[in-house]
Amino acid sequence: MVNNGEDTLFWKDIWLGNQPLCTRFPRLFRIETDKDARVADKIVGDGVTRGVSWSWIRNITGRLQADAVQNEEEIDVFFVNVDGWKWSGQSNGLFSTSVLIDLINEKVSALQSSAAPALRNNLVLKKIEVFVWRVRKNRLPVRVELDKRGIDLGSTWCPVCDNDIETVVHSLFHCSFANQIWARLF
Ligand SMILES: [Zn+2]
Repeated sequence: MVNNGEDTLFWKDIWLGNQPLCTRFPRLFRIETDKDARVADKIVGDGVTRGVSWSWIRNITGRLQADAVQNEEEIDVFFVNVDGWKWSGQSNGLFSTSVLIDLINEKVSALQSSAAPALRNNLVLKKIEVFVWRVRKNRLPVRVELDKRGIDLGSTWCPVCDNDIETVVHSLFHCSFANQIWARLF
């Protein structure tokens, strides 16, 4: 989403239409002197007198000029705040966790209804499936993992047994508390 154009590359980012301008106007791109120019560098003027500040390696005529005019005609966006990301999951462009969850659930149920019945396991709760997935990917928020991601907790020692550093394997299998649970289970 382009606002002031400071963080968007004029030729190489997708900001006008659904292709970068270097793909849509390859002939113009070839004779551009500053191929990494930002939108803010290229667009001059304000809402009334906005234009493009071209910088070609040679004078342009004929077909190239027509390309440039077409390009200019398509540049009709408002530059108000700062450039950023727009979430396409919702029409207002704002990210929402609950809408994301609905979208994921929709996709999952669509997948499940098309998959073979043998692949479905409705006995396992979704949150347990997610937990197991996080264990396998080392994505549980144990202290060692948080530390790796730059969160300073003062210590990576297990807060339950205070006997070893808290890794995923420790908290699920080696920790004395985990051991008690396993023992009861067996
Ligand atoms: Zn422990």
